[in-house]
Amino acid sequence: MQWSISALLPGGRMKIRLNAAARDSMARNLLTRISKAVHKRSRKKLRVYSAEEHGLNPDDVTSAARHVVKTLVDGGYDAYIVGGGVRDLMLGLHPKDFDVATNAHPEQVRQLFDRCRIIGRRFRLAHVYSGRERIEVATFRGGHQTRAGREHLAMTLGGRILRDNAYGPIDRDAERRDFTINSLFYDPLHNIVLDFVGGVPDLRQGRLRMIGKPVVRFREDPVRLLRVLRFAAKLKFTIDPAMEQLIPELAPSLQNISPARMFDEGVKLMHSSAADDTLTLMRSKELLGQLFPYTDQILKQDKNSQHLEFLRRALRNTDQRAREGKSLSPAFAYAVMMWPDVCQIMKARGSHRLERQDALIVCGEKALEHQAETIQIPHRHAQMIREIWRRQAQLEAGPRRHPERVISRGYFRAAYDFLGLRANSKGPLQEAFQAWTQAQEQYRPGSTEDSPRPRSRRRRRGRRRRA
Ligand code: ATP
Ligand code: MG
Repeated sequence: MQWSISALLPGGRMKIRLNAAARDSMARNLLTRISKAVHKRSRKKLRVYSAEEHGLNPDDVTSAARHVVKTLVDGGYDAYIVGGGVRDLMLGLHPKDFDVATNAHPEQVRQLFDRCRIIGRRFRLAHVYSGRERIEVATFRGGHQTRAGREHLAMTLGGRILRDNAYGPIDRDAERRDFTINSLFYDPLHNIVLDFVGGVPDLRQGRLRMIGKPVVRFREDPVRLLRVLRFAAKLKFTIDPAMEQLIPELAPSLQNISPARMFDEGVKLMHSSAADDTLTLMRSKELLGQLFPYTDQILKQDKNSQHLEFLRRALRNTDQRAREGKSLSPAFAYAVMMWPDVCQIMKARGSHRLERQDALIVCGEKALEHQAETIQIPHRHAQMIREIWRRQAQLEAGPRRHPERVISRGYFRAAYDFLGLRANSKGPLQEAFQAWTQAQEQYRPGSTEDSPRPRSRRRRRGRRRRA
């Protein structure tokens, strides 16, 4: 039996159908609260999905995320799981993590949790730690519609958001998110999903659609250009043509994004478990050059596709590792993406008097300088990248005297994996790689096997299901 709560709502125009399970007084109170919290105009748009419609189970969410929601609600606030966690669960995928949205301000969140840290200037939010998990708790945004809220929003004349700490109601928060499928609010306590923007139909139809006018939303934050490709590749969704056609034209606006943020976005692209497809999309939409200008140019002139093949082999391998839950290193991914430039610089230098290892050090330094034009690589990662490249000279030659010393040094494993990706099925590199594999078995038996990274999250039971 369906139950309409339209009678509860002022104006009585919002049609919400609930199944019998939701007919208890808690659900009634909740929906009354929601109706009061949202702007009149959003009430008409809100669609509430019951358990049998959305198909989620509160146990699909980690106990840490549920604990955060419950603590906030017990503290008198509203709180929901939002973003990728809800989207992925509704698609039957394994969410990377869970984000929470609430009307509690970061300081209020901090008062409720012992292990909590407030981070971010551009976008202030709270990190709550529970066991090994970190839950990102963001306060509803969208308050810039009011004069008081506008003080907390900083924009350039071109419409780019520099800082957004203008808190607002849930419906505005739903509208300030990027894509409709990323704007679903799951309440694990009442087991309902709130959809203000038509995200569920888009999820069901495999469609990536921007909330609001794409050109305005891309100008507000050009990083959304990269997010389109990441989600399209990861979820195998079609990109709404209204967004798609704008991407090459707006690609240069990524130059306004800080190189530090570009580093983080680059990692997300390469660790998304669909990095290979993302690379193809990025090349076709003229976005690769915004992150990796030198690699992009080399690929454009790469007649026998040797560099492209290396990158694709490496990214497919990263995708496989991501799917298997194995550890992933940002430095390794960047070492891969910059390698074509290192090779090009080495080639341009021609024959020179330096030893190969020294030449790799010098050329690697030049490639890192090139990369710094768009992306700021943190020092510790840059150090590992240098080591991976430098070690190639040593590993290419195969094990010599005292291979155990080489094997026991730091970064050996990363340099060895890198050599394996460079090696084609036949040839001297493959021989060297095989010899190092045997040497490891001899000196550190079992060390060539890669163990999965510990998983703190509960695996989803049952079949893959579409929303
Ligand atoms: P992932 O699976 O990669 O974590 P996600 O969708 O959860 O995907 P996050 O970067 O964790 O992505 O962000 C959480 C949510 O915050 C998004 O789903 C989206 O609703 C919102 N969001 C994140 N970045 C932006 C942005 N640049 N513009 C608008 N909304 C954003
Ligand atoms: Mg997320």
